Amino acid sequence: MTILGIETSCDDTAAAVLVDADVRSNVISSQHDIHAEFGGVVPELASRNHQRLIVPVVQQALRDADCTADDLDAVAVTYGPGLPGSLMVGLTFAKAFARGRNLPLVGVNHLEGHLYSVDLSSPAPPRPYLCLVVSGGHTELVRVGPNFEHSVLGATRDDAAGEAFDKVAQLLDLGYPGGPAIDRLAKMGDPAFHDFPRSRLDEYDFSFSGLKTSVLYYLRDLGEEKEDVLKDHRADICASFQQAVVDVLVGAVRDAARETGAEHVAIVGGVSANSALRAAIEEAADEDGFEVYMPEMAYCMDNAAMIARAGAMHLQAGHAAGATLDIQPRLRLEKPEGVS
Ligand code: ATP
Ligand code: FE
Repeated sequence: MTILGIETSCDDTAAAVLVDADVRSNVISSQHDIHAEFGGVVPELASRNHQRLIVPVVQQALRDADCTADDLDAVAVTYGPGLPGSLMVGLTFAKAFARGRNLPLVGVNHLEGHLYSVDLSSPAPPRPYLCLVVSGGHTELVRVGPNFEHSVLGATRDDAAGEAFDKVAQLLDLGYPGGPAIDRLAKMGDPAFHDFPRSRLDEYDFSFSGLKTSVLYYLRDLGEEKEDVLKDHRADICASFQQAVVDVLVGAVRDAARETGAEHVAIVGGVSANSALRAAIEEAADEDGFEVYMPEMAYCMDNAAMIARAGAMHLQAGHAAGATLDIQPRLRLEKPEGVS
């Protein structure tokens, strides 16, 4: 099956072509530079830029895959969760494109895209697996079973881990998005420089707003010394903050793997690109004896290859969207309607 995937849920305009499990193209036009001066995504700017970019990005994905629209068997598109105006551009384009070419259309939950992004690499995790979704908007521990069965074991009660990275990066004048910048600087810093709090809630729920606030208070309490301390120790502060996030995430994964008897563990979403998190989970896997699966770098942050992959799986299971498919900005990870 040759499938075109389209992803416009936030600020990346993305299109990809998959032939069966093989990624033939994966085009991402990031709007990060456009939003950087505002310190975060401006929804109206995001949708207007998706509108500007969607046609050239799809054309590029077809060209890179060395195919034309005539070669396609289906179209998969993200219909939620995400920013309404952004989702609308991708879905409207995909509907018109599929309709015009008489192709089946399938709507994909963006979070399912992240869950199954590990299937784009080999070996894919056997079901069931325990999956930590760590992205800009979500921090969830999910048990992924066969046939699109997902049970959410725990989730953040406030900020997502990626959001904490972005907000702390802003406090440290590192720009947007903050995760990659903190990751880079932290490599040169001392994770033991400052002891930021590691908060764990009952069960497998997370909370990162306290950690973010403690970085804010730490910087505020430096008073007049703040600029000097930042000049000498920005990398140390990054490393210390990052270590606190990694300790919390890896601690929860280890507990959940032990308590649920999971033998296969995946980490997905933008924060799964974090080098310290990747190293720590590999080490935990060695010690605890579970297999770990992480997406290749190209599939950690938002991309359309993961949307095409999840879409192909749904089509193979007989799910396709009707003509009235609408965006669902607050869509969650539950069993999709009509799945038995
Ligand atoms: P969601 O998937 O929850 O809707 P999103 O699509 O905006 O949110 P992703 O694109 O999956 O999120 O991930 C983006 C997040 O990942 C940002 O918060 C970014 O700072 C973070 N991130 C990216 N690379 C790294 C890294 N190397 N270290 C830490 N965080 C990172
Ligand atoms: Fe995402």
